[in-house]
Amino acid sequence: MENTGKMKITIWGCRGSMPTPGIEKNKYGGNTSCVQIENGNSCLIFDGGSGIQELGITLHPDIREVNILLTHLHIDHIMGLGYFQPFYNPNCTINIWGPSGSSETLINRLRRYFSPPFFPVRFKELSAKINIYEIDNSTFNIDDFTITSEYLCHPGATVGYRCELGGSVVSFMPDHEPSLGSSDFPNLTEWCSGYNIAKEADLLFHDGQYSTEEYERRVGWGHCSVSDAIDFATLSKVKKMVLFHHDPAHTDIQLERMVDKSIQNKNIGFDLSIGKENDVFHLQ
Ligand SMILES: [Zn+2]
Ligand SMILES: [Zn+2]
Repeated sequence: MENTGKMKITIWGCRGSMPTPGIEKNKYGGNTSCVQIENGNSCLIFDGGSGIQELGITLHPDIREVNILLTHLHIDHIMGLGYFQPFYNPNCTINIWGPSGSSETLINRLRRYFSPPFFPVRFKELSAKINIYEIDNSTFNIDDFTITSEYLCHPGATVGYRCELGGSVVSFMPDHEPSLGSSDFPNLTEWCSGYNIAKEADLLFHDGQYSTEEYERRVGWGHCSVSDAIDFATLSKVKKMVLFHHDPAHTDIQLERMVDKSIQNKNIGFDLSIGKENDVFHLQ
C-alpha cells in the first residue's frame, strides 16, 4: 500500500496502572496504554501496554517493520511487549524508541523485563531484528512522519510524543502531571510541561486519571485530574482531546460521572471525549 498522507489512529488500550477486565469496565476497556498510528505501510505504536497483544494479532503475519515508541518504562506501558507476536518473527524488524534514563541504558532497562523470573524469554532470544534508539528532547523521522519527543513531568524518565504528517498533529502523553511543572499553571505557556508537544494538536491523548478530589490526595504521583487536563488542553489550543489512562478503580459509570462533573462551569473550546478501546480516528 502507498503511503497516503493520512493518519489512521487506533486505541488498543487506554487504562492506567494495571489491566482491569470486568463487565463494569467493558465500555472504555481494561487494557493498558497502546495507540497505533498507520499511514499506508508505516506502523507506529505508542507504548507497549497490554493492548499491544491484540494489536499484534491483527497485524499481517508478513509485516516487515514495526516502530514502537515508549513514553517510559513503568510496567503498565511495557507489560504487553513479550506477548507482541512480531518479536517472534525473524523476518520482522522492530525499532524501539524510548527515553534516556540517568542510570541505565534503555536496552538494559528492557532486559530487566525480558528476563526470568518476570518473563521466560530473554531479550537476546527474541527472533526479530531489534534496533534500539534512545531519545530525549529530540526530533526525528520515521518514514514520512516527523516525531518530536520531550521530557514530561512524571516520575522517572518520561517523554511525550508529537507525531506530524502532512500538516496534521497527534500528541501522546498518557502519564503527565502538568500542574506541578509551573508555578502559574495553567496560565503560562513558558515552562509548562508538555506544552511544546501538545501545542495546537489536532488530536491529543492526555492523562485524565483522577477527579479533582482524588487528585488532591495524590499530588506528585505523576497523573492528572480531568479538570487539569482540560485546562492544559485549553492552554495548548488543541482541537480535540481524548482522556486517557483511566484509573483502574473507575467503572464506566464512575468515569462518565467524573468527566460530567469536571466539565461543569468550564468553557471548553475543543472537542472532548473519553478514550475507549478500539476507537478509531482519521486525520487528513
Ligand atoms: Zn501509566
Ligand atoms: Zn507512569
